[in-house]
Amino acid sequence: MNRELLETVCNTPGIPGFEDPIQQVVRGVLEPRCDEIRRDRMGNVIGLRRAARPPAGDRPLRAVLAAHADEIGMMVKHIDAEGFVRFEPVGGLNAQAIVSQQVIIHGREPVRGVVVPGRGDKPPDMKDMLIDVGLCSEDVCRRIGVGDVITFAQGLVPLNEKVFMGRNFDDRLGTYCLLEAMNRLGETAVDVYAVSTVQEEKGVRGMPVAAFAIEPDVGLAIDGSVTWGAHIPKHENICAMGGGTGIYLMDGLTIADPRLTRFLFDLCHRHDIRCQPNIGGGTDAAAIQRTGRGALATTIGAPTRYMHSTVQLAHADDIEATVQLLVAFLEHAHELEAIAR
Ligand SMILES: [Zn+2]
Repeated sequence: MNRELLETVCNTPGIPGFEDPIQQVVRGVLEPRCDEIRRDRMGNVIGLRRAARPPAGDRPLRAVLAAHADEIGMMVKHIDAEGFVRFEPVGGLNAQAIVSQQVIIHGREPVRGVVVPGRGDKPPDMKDMLIDVGLCSEDVCRRIGVGDVITFAQGLVPLNEKVFMGRNFDDRLGTYCLLEAMNRLGETAVDVYAVSTVQEEKGVRGMPVAAFAIEPDVGLAIDGSVTWGAHIPKHENICAMGGGTGIYLMDGLTIADPRLTRFLFDLCHRHDIRCQPNIGGGTDAAAIQRTGRGALATTIGAPTRYMHSTVQLAHADDIEATVQLLVAFLEHAHELEAIAR
């Protein structure tokens, strides 16, 4: 595991629509690994690495990997006469997960604060929540204003030798796996597009634009696999943390082509990569599959407990298995010629 890269990726802010800081990190890592790199009008970063062994005659197949750069967060909505800050969630925030969390408000200068707990036993409604930054209204207004971005302050923490905790493993583990796979990638017979997408958490808004421009033949989104954990029984979420990378058979937006999922399971078998089937939420795979004339698409990724909270858990071996499957997929994607062209 590339610990330094994982830490940088997980500790850099970037909420939907404001992905600049993380996209700069992504671009810096991808650029030396790509023949071309650009940022489109939505903010997606798209790196292209051309096929080193293109097929005779026809153009190489175009294979896309996509991880979303945005993490759920908030935006400053109102600052009252006492200096308390009200906010609007950006992305699917879980109210009980954010109470008592430390946050950073990215204003003219960064301001730290805490999401104030309710007075009773119950967490307050999201609309009644506020952030206390410990400053008077005048000082607050000098540093921040309406529209400023708020991220959680929680950084990457190793819980033990194998399990990490982070605020944004959905989908910074995907970003890490994308970058690390491109770092390790050997020669391919397909054109590889590495895409760091924007605004996935607001309903897959960035990937359609990238897919329209690329016209991929086949693609994988990289995202967290939902997994069982405390309060979530095994029969509900079938992936196990530590059980290998999850291969999505189906999610809320996409039904994977069974020929593609069979190919992925077979690759894992051939390369001794631990994997497990997953039935998930909804990801950028939807846009890869159904933009323009469409493409073969599904999602893979490390099982992640408590997604959309600030204490997401994931296993180092699952992250590594995901990187290995991405590399194997790209190096063998030309074998999909018969079904993907
Ligand atoms: Zn996600």
